[in-house]
Amino acid sequence: MRKPFIAGNWKMNKDSAGSVELAAGLAKELKDVDSVDVAVCPPFVYLQAVSNAVSGSPVKVGAQNMYFEANGAFTGEISTDMLKDVGCTYVICGHSERRHVIGETDELVNKKVKAAIESGLLPILAVGELLEEREADKTNDVVKTQVTKGLEGVSADDILKVTIAYEPVWAIGTGKTATPDQAQDVHAMIRGLIAELYSQDVADKIRIQYGGSAKPANTAELMAQPDVDGLLVGGASLKVEDFSKMIKTV
Ligand code: PEP
Repeated sequence: MRKPFIAGNWKMNKDSAGSVELAAGLAKELKDVDSVDVAVCPPFVYLQAVSNAVSGSPVKVGAQNMYFEANGAFTGEISTDMLKDVGCTYVICGHSERRHVIGETDELVNKKVKAAIESGLLPILAVGELLEEREADKTNDVVKTQVTKGLEGVSADDILKVTIAYEPVWAIGTGKTATPDQAQDVHAMIRGLIAELYSQDVADKIRIQYGGSAKPANTAELMAQPDVDGLLVGGASLKVEDFSKMIKTV
């Protein structure tokens, strides 16, 4: 009942020609895919070129970040209208690298989620625990706080515009994937939390992606988990062959 959703986060990789080559390759390879929602999230400066390259294909475009204000004196920031103007459908809010490298707080992430929804973009709210938090048995507390604060003020009418991405920080870019059971446990906990915050109906419908060293070899077993509805993919989204293989596995 939940349509799988696989998104590629290119992070700070590729150049202009490489972005277009990857986007065009995916558009061609995935032209007939309709059972999975697919998005790619290139760096800001290549969004327009990537939008052009995937135009007319099932591949949608997302941004890796945004600012919550509409316009004005916010040097270096990018607004939701600008993202829509260059063809974005989605935007990632609260990726762990934004939280832990750049220092974004739950409050800032929440403002971004709400501004994204208001503008008509579909936010992907990324959450996940650090290794030391998992080792201290704090995974559920950390993720619950990030989800609850990230969604504060998001109404029942809007909540299904949000995708939640569970990305254990210790699994991102490390080659260490969460086991399917570890992913399922946290996904089920998040779905239960959404039922408490909204309703069982909303919880049954909201999509929860897993992210953290997902690749072609582990896609099937992750996607076989009942509460894993998709993937947010970093490294493996940088090659046409790998990313399209993952999508065709689903
Ligand atoms: C990510 O950037 O969201 C991610 C999950 O990266 P990787 O797949 O490389 O671990």
